[in-house]
Amino acid sequence: METKPHQQLHIFFLPFMGQGHTLPLIDIAKLFASRGEKSTIITTPANAPLFTKAIQTSRSSGLEIELLLIKFPSAEVGLPEGIESTNWGSKTAEMAEKFFKALTLLEQQVEQLLDQYHPQCLVASSLFHWATDVAAKFGIPRLIFQGPGFFSLRAAMSVTRYQPHMKVASDSESFVLPNLPHEIKMTRNKLPSFVKQNGETELMKLLRECRETEKRSYGIVINSFYELEPDYADHYRKAFGRKSWHIGPVSLCNKAEKDISARGREGSVDDVHECLQWLNSKKPRSVVYVCFGSLNSFSDCQLLEIALGLEASQQQFIWVVKKENNDEEEWLPEGYEQRMEGRGLIVRGWAPQLLILQHEAVGAFLTHCGWNSILEGVTAGVPMITWPVFADQFYNEKLVTQILGIAVAVGSQKSEDGGVKSEARASVKREAIKMAITEIMEGYEADGMRRKAFALGETARRAVEEGGSSFSDLTSLIEELRSLGS
Ligand code: UDP
Repeated sequence: METKPHQQLHIFFLPFMGQGHTLPLIDIAKLFASRGEKSTIITTPANAPLFTKAIQTSRSSGLEIELLLIKFPSAEVGLPEGIESTNWGSKTAEMAEKFFKALTLLEQQVEQLLDQYHPQCLVASSLFHWATDVAAKFGIPRLIFQGPGFFSLRAAMSVTRYQPHMKVASDSESFVLPNLPHEIKMTRNKLPSFVKQNGETELMKLLRECRETEKRSYGIVINSFYELEPDYADHYRKAFGRKSWHIGPVSLCNKAEKDISARGREGSVDDVHECLQWLNSKKPRSVVYVCFGSLNSFSDCQLLEIALGLEASQQQFIWVVKKENNDEEEWLPEGYEQRMEGRGLIVRGWAPQLLILQHEAVGAFLTHCGWNSILEGVTAGVPMITWPVFADQFYNEKLVTQILGIAVAVGSQKSEDGGVKSEARASVKREAIKMAITEIMEGYEADGMRRKAFALGETARRAVEEGGSSFSDLTSLIEELRSLGS
């Protein structure tokens, strides 16, 4: 049937309440809107302030994008008022269980909104397993938004299907992930804790239900680009058996400086300018940017090791620490900031990561390997030091160190449970940090890695330009959705 020429799609987006999902999904909503479609993002009151600014600026530049609020069922699950995302202050395993339970209780409110607005598609984060059936009630497709890229999804699938970790004698004995294009070795220590636990926790139950509804969903949207992981894009598509579209790096939709600096932050951008001024005074590729994502809360003794490792490296650095100014600073050695003045800048709280990575003064990125950070590092063309902490991060490390050859590993060996505060110990020592930084900044292979990273960054940018692989995949997705509604 012929499609109507200017039929506008209305797409609903439901991001999981954590920056690692919310930020890319908002970018995806902007991408659809930039193609002339209408995007509506569903979120809860405590999460909304993090991106109302982004939505205002998009609207003032003519994009049709809006926000709808639903109530987070804190009281129903016994969570304190206002805790509506994974970025809460003091995490405990018990709170994490309640949080995951609350996600399953949002179904009815989303159903009411679909009934009221009649969108043509619902794009929901993978953890909202019920979204597939809710969308089906209204005869519209549900697309899954998966946080990670193809490599990590394929690696996780290999573990779930073949259970290679059950065939080794100890947590530190390595095994090969079966049926992948490369020989990828892992240990039980590096696998997410939910793979290894006995009994079914709320998170495991949620993940099982997600896997089951994947089979009934229309398809999957992935924040990656084909040229980054072609073998795994092909392999995943064959093994997954559903449609998938790669449309990233989606962060590249933020072009204006005000969009980039406001991304993910609530309130003032004064510290953004301070950060940029500091970088402006540095030589090209002379600064190491250190950030562990939005969730990570290292123990004070691990923070101390990082401080001393950075000092010993003798390199310049920006280090983002998820502590507020008024937190007690026992984790910093006495007189540290005075000693580092001019050489190291500590950013407390939220850093303008995209702006920093794109600055020519940045020469390397020490990252926890969250998929967004990896992709943002790749896009900026910067070589990386990998320090995975939990979840898919250990798989992402393999992609950039072993397959792409644009990173060195600091030597993190054990997955920490992301839902709870990390143990009061330092698993990575100052010497290892110093060595990895020296290797990436001035080691034997530093130039080669820098060249490869730079070339990948160029490829990433081409992928989202008209005619590029991600641009074309998004066009196909829009055309397909439009054909379903005609
Ligand atoms: N981010 C940021 N400033 C910070 C910390 C994080 O802008 O201080 C952004 C970062 O650019 C990325 C996202 O938050 O887009 C974090 O996602 P990622 O997948 O890297 O890690 P997660 O936080 O989910 O572990």
